[in-house]
Amino acid sequence: MIKVGVNGYGTIGKRVADAVRAQPDMKLVGVAKTRPNYEAEAAVRKGYPLYAAIPEKSDAFRQAGIDLAGEIDDLVMQSDVVVDCTPSGIGEQNRELYERYDTRALFQGGEDADVVDASFNARANYDSARDDDVRFARVVSCNTTGLSRLMAPLDEAFGVEKARITLIRRGGDPADASRGPINDILPDPVTVPSHHGPDVNTIFPDLNIDTVGVKVPATLMHLHSVNVTLSETPTVEDVRDLLHEESRLFLVPDVAGIDGTGQLKEFAMDTGRPRGDLWENCIWGESISVEGDDLYLFQSIHQESDVIPENVDAIRAITDAADQRESMRATDENLGVGL
Ligand code: NAD
Repeated sequence: MIKVGVNGYGTIGKRVADAVRAQPDMKLVGVAKTRPNYEAEAAVRKGYPLYAAIPEKSDAFRQAGIDLAGEIDDLVMQSDVVVDCTPSGIGEQNRELYERYDTRALFQGGEDADVVDASFNARANYDSARDDDVRFARVVSCNTTGLSRLMAPLDEAFGVEKARITLIRRGGDPADASRGPINDILPDPVTVPSHHGPDVNTIFPDLNIDTVGVKVPATLMHLHSVNVTLSETPTVEDVRDLLHEESRLFLVPDVAGIDGTGQLKEFAMDTGRPRGDLWENCIWGESISVEGDDLYLFQSIHQESDVIPENVDAIRAITDAADQRESMRATDENLGVGL
């Protein structure tokens, strides 16, 4: 049984905690929060032991009538692995805490690659985190996860000569009231290429990829407009068959009549997905086109949840508890990944 602590209980942390609880080979030791807000209340109602992320703020929980199981040091001490889901940059500051208790830790995509020993994507480089020397790994961002899942099979089957991706990025998550834009379309970053391509290169060091980013007034999902020049020219059917085999790629069927991210999310909610989460890349089957050596397609990425199965696999990888196939299959089965 792998003992897992979650530090930072926001968008990603709460989903990681639920996903860990769904794995029979893992035990959720508890979750750490900075303040006694509605998310703390929800964690308690779910029966998750709650730890104060900032010990000086423990009293605020008591005053709010919320019982604590302890402070962050207790959580780290008891855990085999801590999944750090704190905001970008805080994870780096927490690294020393994990080192103090010799506890392995997983960070999220908001941290720089040089904070960790390995950047991780289950489909593309599971074994990178299995080495005994790897104490700290980073589950790459939602966009990099989505691109890695797509590039891995394409490169293996047809060889990727050059990938060019336009990322149409949601302005913020649904609960982020302070994010934007609310009525604008922003080149973001305005410099070309964007930082996303180099992040994909932390997973595929030799991949030739350029990315550009645009931020729009939406909260539901990101949309990637993908153009890949391939070494071997497949038919559209070859590409569809290849992608169909991948459990974390959902080929949106032509007959479904799903016209955008709103209906994708509606479909997720209608099918009973927790929080309306879409763990899979959602690739419009009809968009898959081959023009000469170039493949084109559109895929949507649910930023709040596509990294969740990856975090579960990264827990097994960094503790060397299972190989890639075994872990991905268990994660998919236990969560219900695969639409
Ligand atoms: P979030 O703001 O929703 O959640 C972060 C939580 O950490 C909040 O509850 C916050 O109160 C808490 N926190 C702040 N300081 C803390 C501290 N010192 N110790 C413990 N907890 C602390 O953020 P998020 O969206 O869940 O992002 C977390 C990480 O995941 C970031 O690295 C981010 O880049 C990455 N990520 C986010 C998304 C996304 O779309 N939301 C997708 C993929 C990866």
